[in-house]
Amino acid sequence: MNDRFVVVGAGTMGLGIAYVAAGAGHAVELVEVDRGRAAEAPAALAALWDRAVRRGRLDADAAAAGRDRLTLRASLAEVPAGPGVVVEAVPERLELKRRVLAEAAALRPALLGSNTSSISIGELAVGLPSPERFLGLHFFNPVWAMTLLEVVVGPATTTETTTAAVALARRLGKDPVVVRDLPGFATSRLGVTLGLEAIRMVADGVAAPADIDKAMVLGYRHPVGPLELTDLVGLDVRLDIARTLQAAYGDRFAPPELLVEMVAQGRLGKKSGQGFYHWEGGVKQ
Ligand code: NAD
Repeated sequence: MNDRFVVVGAGTMGLGIAYVAAGAGHAVELVEVDRGRAAEAPAALAALWDRAVRRGRLDADAAAAGRDRLTLRASLAEVPAGPGVVVEAVPERLELKRRVLAEAAALRPALLGSNTSSISIGELAVGLPSPERFLGLHFFNPVWAMTLLEVVVGPATTTETTTAAVALARRLGKDPVVVRDLPGFATSRLGVTLGLEAIRMVADGVAAPADIDKAMVLGYRHPVGPLELTDLVGLDVRLDIARTLQAAYGDRFAPPELLVEMVAQGRLGKKSGQGFYHWEGGVKQ
């Protein structure tokens, strides 16, 4: 496998994956079709490298080298064929992901991964020319800080592909778990359950969001409460995941009305400045 690493989507996750892959020595091409998002990406990435230098995790030369290994592309059509890895990190919608994966597969990467949080890898693989080289590569947010990588084995994924993905995870500094292809895998199914119930509790007036979060942090030793985590993930992202899990498992994953309303109002969490908390400059107020 060569060291060319393509990331599709420069959102919350794509930026993080691109940053980590460039830091691990890959030649990264980050594809973003939205002009506004593409224009913001260089500054967002520069801020990550600057912070790593400020905090003493990287020296300035290593940060500059990482930055030089990253190229932005306006579409997959601009990416030369034959990359080692392509990771798709576009929004959690089946048809969109299938379209993007079909385009990515046409580049004939050695390994094709989806960062889906909840959609079945088997469903995403429908129509792909080489489903044996495709699997889930589920990174966690923020990608540079979270060591877990869920490697999701689809019905057609070969052992060779899974082994290559586990090796890739380790090269990226991640600690992988290999899981079966059931919607929500080993993490989102539980994590979203907690998040949705916490939102129902806000709607029921059980306590203020900060107190619901504090109860889980102090009472259950969670590092961050379920509502703050929902703000960090993005309410729109969690809504999409809830809908996917509702289709797979039934109404126990039905999104609460409050979540639907907040997304419709553009209260998406950290990325929009307002969710269950108010955020300024990426910092919870
Ligand atoms: P996001 O909305 O922040 O970013 C998605 C990006 O993809 C946007 O910038 C969008 O413009 C871009 N995009 C859309 N269509 C595209 C195309 N055809 N080509 C290139 N770019 C395109 O979403 P996100 O939070 O980064 O989530 C991406 C994926 O990662 C989803 O599947 C989500 O479920 C999963 N995920 C998210 C989190 C999280 O905490 N946000 C964690 C783990 C996994």
